[in-house]
Amino acid sequence: AKTEGKDCYAVFNSNMQLAALNRLQIENDLREAIKQEQLCLYYQPIIELMSGHLSGFEALIRWQHPTKGLIYPDEFIPIAEETGLINPIGWWVIQQACYQLKCWEKEHPKGLKLSINVNLSAQQLKQKGLVEKIGDLLTETKIEGNRLKLEITESCLLETVTIEAQRVNQIKELGIGLCIDDFGTGYSSLSRLYEFPIDTLKIDRSFIRRLEFSQTAIVQIIVSLAHTLGINVVAEGIETLEQLNHLQGLGCELGQGYLFSKPVDSAKANQLLHNYNSE
Ligand code: C2E
Ligand code: CA
Ligand code: CA
Ligand code: CA
Repeated sequence: AKTEGKDCYAVFNSNMQLAALNRLQIENDLREAIKQEQLCLYYQPIIELMSGHLSGFEALIRWQHPTKGLIYPDEFIPIAEETGLINPIGWWVIQQACYQLKCWEKEHPKGLKLSINVNLSAQQLKQKGLVEKIGDLLTETKIEGNRLKLEITESCLLETVTIEAQRVNQIKELGIGLCIDDFGTGYSSLSRLYEFPIDTLKIDRSFIRRLEFSQTAIVQIIVSLAHTLGINVVAEGIETLEQLNHLQGLGCELGQGYLFSKPVDSAKANQLLHNYNSE
């Protein structure tokens, strides 16, 4: 039994080493990815649920790895956050999203009013100079602040200290929209939420899934709470017509999900733009 235990320990240990090695490899590869421009953005449409019009896109990062193929953010964003690489990566995402928006505007000049949502991680909020950099970028690209929306998760917002909360307010002063991502999962006290200049609540997918089983109460409360406070609501992860019907009935104004489209590359997003605009 004693030797068995020892073996067990050895296996455990080598698994841990393997995991550590794998992480180290991803970290190294990720540094390379930034230099070699292997990162790219996919775009998922955000739809006005009553009219079916395209309101904008959420930018979602992907990594085109030279040997491993397309890697999804859940596999590398946590490592990027731990290593601080999220700062250069996150900044690249904001820039790329703004340039892409500019590109689409040039191609569809007729009063195209699109907005673009970008995910912001907690680390980025801790960065000095973030707000100034975003302000400069908006000036340089001549993009109105209200066309850019930054998504911050509910749990991230709740962890903010004074200086970061100030930064959130400065972002708001640039006209940029503030969207609370994964809303409903962070158990925020409403009074704490009230400290922030929120434009949009994005209801977490887990609640949308439950609509199928007629569990509408929580979504109903979130929608009416938001509307009382003058805040817009986006439902994420809409996969079925049934869910869509529920949400329309509850007066939820915006939504995204596979029912409309999966996240697509910029060429396909451009096609979607043509389709929606010619309807
Ligand atoms: P998120 O911000 O909550 O993004 C929504 C995720 O749900 C996306 O996964 C999207 O592809 C997926 N999704 C959308 N509609 C549906 C649906 O109808 N059904 C299902 N099952 N899934 C749906 P993705 O692209 O893999 O992103 C995962 C997470 O990675 C994001 O969650 C976000 O937290 C993070 N992330 C992505 N891009 C960035 C980025 O540029 N910066 C930072 N900091 N995080 C990012
Ligand atoms: Ca998001
Ligand atoms: Ca989300
Ligand atoms: Ca999420």
